[in-house]
Amino acid sequence: METVQNFIQGQISESHSQRFAPVFNPATGEQTRQVVLSSAAETAEAIAAADKAFPAWAKTSPLKRARVMFKFKALLEQNMDELARLISSEHGKVYSDAVGEVTRGLEVVEFACGIPHLQKGEHSANVGTGVDSHSLMQPLGVCAGITPFNFPAMVPMWMFPIALATGNTFVLKPSEKDPSLGLVLAELLKEAGLPDGVFNVVNGDKEAVDVLLTDPRVQAVSFVGSTPIAEYIYSTASAHGKRCQALGGAKNHCILMPDADLDMATSAIMGAAYGAAGERCMALSVVVAVGDETADQLIGKLKSQIDVMKVGPGVVEGPENDMGPVISSQHKDKICEYITSGVEQGASLVVDGRDIRIEGHENGFFVGPTLFDNVSPEMTIYQEEIFGPVLAIVRVPDYQTGLELINRHEYGNGTAIFTRDGETARQFSEDVLAGMVGINVPIPVPMAFHSFGGWKRSVFGPLNVHGNDGVRFYTRMKTVTSRWPASVRLEQHSSSFVMPTM
Ligand code: NAD
Repeated sequence: METVQNFIQGQISESHSQRFAPVFNPATGEQTRQVVLSSAAETAEAIAAADKAFPAWAKTSPLKRARVMFKFKALLEQNMDELARLISSEHGKVYSDAVGEVTRGLEVVEFACGIPHLQKGEHSANVGTGVDSHSLMQPLGVCAGITPFNFPAMVPMWMFPIALATGNTFVLKPSEKDPSLGLVLAELLKEAGLPDGVFNVVNGDKEAVDVLLTDPRVQAVSFVGSTPIAEYIYSTASAHGKRCQALGGAKNHCILMPDADLDMATSAIMGAAYGAAGERCMALSVVVAVGDETADQLIGKLKSQIDVMKVGPGVVEGPENDMGPVISSQHKDKICEYITSGVEQGASLVVDGRDIRIEGHENGFFVGPTLFDNVSPEMTIYQEEIFGPVLAIVRVPDYQTGLELINRHEYGNGTAIFTRDGETARQFSEDVLAGMVGINVPIPVPMAFHSFGGWKRSVFGPLNVHGNDGVRFYTRMKTVTSRWPASVRLEQHSSSFVMPTM
């Protein structure tokens, strides 16, 4: 059986670890590969390679670093089909969605191509007589990225294009559930001209992660995953003096106002709730319907769209499915337990996805689209992130009650409002406690040149990923104040012991 190895110092590195994790094709339920769970010593080896490569890469002109990114972008485009098929075979999402994922990552590479401009720093002439001030945005050193299963290409590409373009070196620890993409990205970076050791991949679990969090050579840690792990990552990395951004889980609500365009909202809600089998951190999992009439109408429309949804494998000959399987058999069981708890706690199960059978794929990890009505805030299916194709409708009498409900939830990643009223939309975007807001847009994922991140327990650390925050995260500012003898001669030569003022 093929073993997914590490990538250290510009080549595949055979691991000596005796620990492995199985990698499945979620559409068939078969194990297709195994991935090595690297030891602490192997992780330290990857850090050492990145540390050794740092001085030369940091001194490489930003223009040259950008040119590597330009080539990498072209290679991503050339290899799009292979990348999307690989994502689908390990994650399960449908082919076109996998292409969308690579494209969103590629857009961060495009952003990183502009690094000579983005990393220019600031300059002020004559801050005093003959005195100038300018800032240098310098790289940090070795940076680490620890990424989740649900976007095996896009989430690593939220991180490393900007880290590398700004002159850092990188160690990626991909999810052990779909690890192959990390190695393909490493090979493409090498083909694009990235020097050996600048980008390394260590596959593994907590043992590898703990080394990345504590090794003094690692300067910054970017993490995306579930909230309990994000809290652990943030506190451990911070306690070891590292810069850290840790993005966690979500429970994204939208408010559906009675004046919304219901057909448009229904289609948007369908895609946002069930796309990628609900395994997106920006998936919509709660609709807060204002008024019973709005809720009844929405449920009627959702039911008729769910009836014609096609669930099946991610890559097929002929017309594509709408939704693929979930990541693992354990995750399928967990989602089904949530559905059972919803029924036990009194929610109305309108559509039940637990017993779905896909012909020819009976062992695949499929859960059908599931819809609950009359969900209330004390229910587990309301409080917790399910990360599956389960949509909850909460009925509220008015907008204000809906807003307060959203603001009370512990997560604050994304949110949306569906309305035709500009004043309500504006008020909502001002008052809602969430990091990313959609107005008639169900999954408001910011573009690469903006920054992505939530609020509350959806994020730990002050800087979001990509965009200007990404550049800030991967650089540290040095401000240089300078003057030259000619201007000094204009002033007195005596020492001054007071705080300099200009
Ligand atoms: P996860 O937290 O289980 O795993 C994420 C990473 O952490 C993986 O690389 C994993 O190997 C590592 N990890 C797991 N347990 C660990 C431990 N005990 N110690 C150290 N490292 C550990 O998350 P997942 O199941 O892969 O991904 C789904 C979660 O990610 C969801 O909660 C989802 O909302 C979240 N997510 C958030 C965003 C965002 O931008 N906020 C984006 C994508 C996914």
